[in-house]
Amino acid sequence: MTYARALIKLSGEALMGQQPYGIDPAIVQSIAEDISKVVSTGTQIAIVVGGGNIFRGLKGSAAGMDRATADYVGMLATVMNAITLQDGLERAGVPTRVQSAIEMQQIAEPYIRRRAIRHLEKGRVVVFGGGCGNPFFTTDTTSALRAAEINAEVVFKATKVDGVYDRDPKLFPDAIKYENLTFQEVLSKEIRVMDSTAIALCKDNKIPIVVFDIFQPGNISKAVAGASIGSRISN
Ligand code: UDP
Repeated sequence: MTYARALIKLSGEALMGQQPYGIDPAIVQSIAEDISKVVSTGTQIAIVVGGGNIFRGLKGSAAGMDRATADYVGMLATVMNAITLQDGLERAGVPTRVQSAIEMQQIAEPYIRRRAIRHLEKGRVVVFGGGCGNPFFTTDTTSALRAAEINAEVVFKATKVDGVYDRDPKLFPDAIKYENLTFQEVLSKEIRVMDSTAIALCKDNKIPIVVFDIFQPGNISKAVAGASIGSRISN
């Protein structure tokens, strides 16, 4: 099974590689090369990029910042990642457009749903920056929202863990990995894979989520080709 249109959620940490902060250009290039292979097979790809490698609103507010202000800083961080990713994708030969939920005309198109779909139909990758433009949300929820808006068949959550575990595998070596699980299980067991708003949106709109390790080169191609990697959450 291959997908005609997919949305990839790239966490900010995916762009950070082994660094403690910021962006590792080599990692961005390797991710871009993987995505270029997928695009050449004809699958339409949209990407929502996070900002946790630069700034997280919750951390800012824990340090005393006003939460909404801190979240706007977080959203701006996602735009930096989006533009960096666009640079990597275009160097890999993939025509790419960045659409930002917060208008900044000099560097990105505004988010316009129908225009985003048109770009995808023309074989361009669309990177959504600025989250959904609202504080108190996350880029996980943005992924679920944009996936529903553009009629993506699947959300790929590309992260630094190779799937969903019953406990944190870094703290508990005996943690068990789920191959398949339902949205209901994720919600009722409070499994921390994406925030509950994102899970509920995907559940309601019947959009499966596949969680896999982005640092394994070739994993994006495998996931889009429908190989069973990582963990799959569906109804
Ligand atoms: N953010 C927000 N609204 C959104 C998306 C993101 O306020 O719609 C802010 C929030 O502060 C968040 C930060 O942007 O902490 C970075 O996004 P996220 O934490 O989702 O990035 P990731 O964990 O995927 O790197």
